[in-house]
Amino acid sequence: MSAPTLLRLDTRFARELPEMAVRWQAEPAPDPQLLVLNVPLAEQLGLDPDWLRSPEGVRLLVGLHVPEGATPVAQAYAGHQFGGFNPRLGDGRALLLGELSVSDGSVRDLHLKGSGRTPFARGGDGLAAVGPMLREHVVSEGMHALGIPTTRSLAVVATGRPVRRETMLPGAVLARTASSHLRVGSFQFARATGDLGLLQRLADHAIDRHHGAAAQAEHRYVALFDAVVTAQADLLAQWMLVGFVHGVMNTDNTTISGETIDYGPCAFMESYDPATVFSSIDETGRYAYGNQPLLAEWNLARLAEAMLPLFAEDEEQAVALASASLERFRPQYAAAWSTGMSAKLGVASAPDELVQELMVLLQANHVDLTSFFRRLSTAARGDAEPARSLVLDLAGFDAWCARWLALGPDADAMDRVNPVYVPRNHLVEEALEAGTAGDLAPLHRLLEAVGSPYEERAGLERYAEPAPQDFGAYRTFCGT
Ligand code: AMP
Ligand code: MG
Repeated sequence: MSAPTLLRLDTRFARELPEMAVRWQAEPAPDPQLLVLNVPLAEQLGLDPDWLRSPEGVRLLVGLHVPEGATPVAQAYAGHQFGGFNPRLGDGRALLLGELSVSDGSVRDLHLKGSGRTPFARGGDGLAAVGPMLREHVVSEGMHALGIPTTRSLAVVATGRPVRRETMLPGAVLARTASSHLRVGSFQFARATGDLGLLQRLADHAIDRHHGAAAQAEHRYVALFDAVVTAQADLLAQWMLVGFVHGVMNTDNTTISGETIDYGPCAFMESYDPATVFSSIDETGRYAYGNQPLLAEWNLARLAEAMLPLFAEDEEQAVALASASLERFRPQYAAAWSTGMSAKLGVASAPDELVQELMVLLQANHVDLTSFFRRLSTAARGDAEPARSLVLDLAGFDAWCARWLALGPDADAMDRVNPVYVPRNHLVEEALEAGTAGDLAPLHRLLEAVGSPYEERAGLERYAEPAPQDFGAYRTFCGT
């Protein structure tokens, strides 16, 4: 067990952007119990898993042991929530413990969620329940294993403190890492202060941490915005290709790094339908599956507005630069989607009409997106039946399949990009329910399945199946 003094947490965010950092400490946890530890991530970060399991390590994971030199802070940010602007959101129940320097040269934020009320808590209790924190753990790990940029969960620790929701629930703290917690809402906050020096410092900080090439560009802040547009366009295409529905794509949940963040009412779509919504609070379907790319673009427009004074002194010129950059979102998204779809179909370049027709067929026949693409490789190997049996319109499928087969798809390449296992909603619910009651075995089995999503394994058949009919219309709840 290596000495905890090895744990060095930098305070760069707090030092460089003090106006956006409130020094704070976690609320005491009466009886911290480690529920799940991400050993591979701990090792990657250079943290000794045995030490993290020790009483002092667990205290670190709930914010009670602050390593020497660290300065935990609640970060300030603003945000458009469901379209309405709130100039002061911030970490209401979260703390940035500090930044870890990893041996591969990268820097990762170490951050806690559910660690108690902060000055940004507004009406909230500052707490989190075990279920939602386990959801973030398993879904973010599933996303990471799929190769999708995301924050990662290091651990979930039960606090021993009950949390009042619809019922009383056991409380927990999630310890997560991110390449940073800078959000579109961080820029909106800086802009709303009216302090252009702060806005510029924030942009410089973001360039240095995420988009270093922008520093060499003629217009460095336009180049930063460009890089965020590209990162988000790529990210959205990846969500769409696996059927991920974020559920609450507010500007405060949109990162500058291009990582997926804040797994609240998120869920994986099964039957392909662009109108799919899972979140109980998304009454108008603003963040429906099919709307996500448009909403990302909308969020980027809010980022452009916030950054405008950095683009040019002359407002008209600044707007022109921002618009030209934002206009690249759609073609970049379309190209990333198209490349991804071609890979899913095992061909170098799938014609748009072929993809379009397939999506119409999948929607009309309520076909499970994940199963269909995975089974399609068997069709490329000569047996169309596994995929065909998922479609009611057999003539429609046969006609489409013949045209696709004529392109000579590569079945092995398809199996490398079409997952067998994604964190399906009924499996996540099952794992959360058991975990809340103290049985973590279902969570560990699900983590095993979704941790190697492309590798089909005997004994994991039920993890590849869609929800049983009686699972019903799945709803997820925010305010978790
Ligand atoms: P979200 O969209 O869930 O990521 O959070 C939106 C805002 O609400 C953020 O400022 C959170 O810190 C805050 N928030 C969410 N839940 C709580 C809670 N239980 N207590 C305090 N603040 C919260
Ligand atoms: Mg959030």
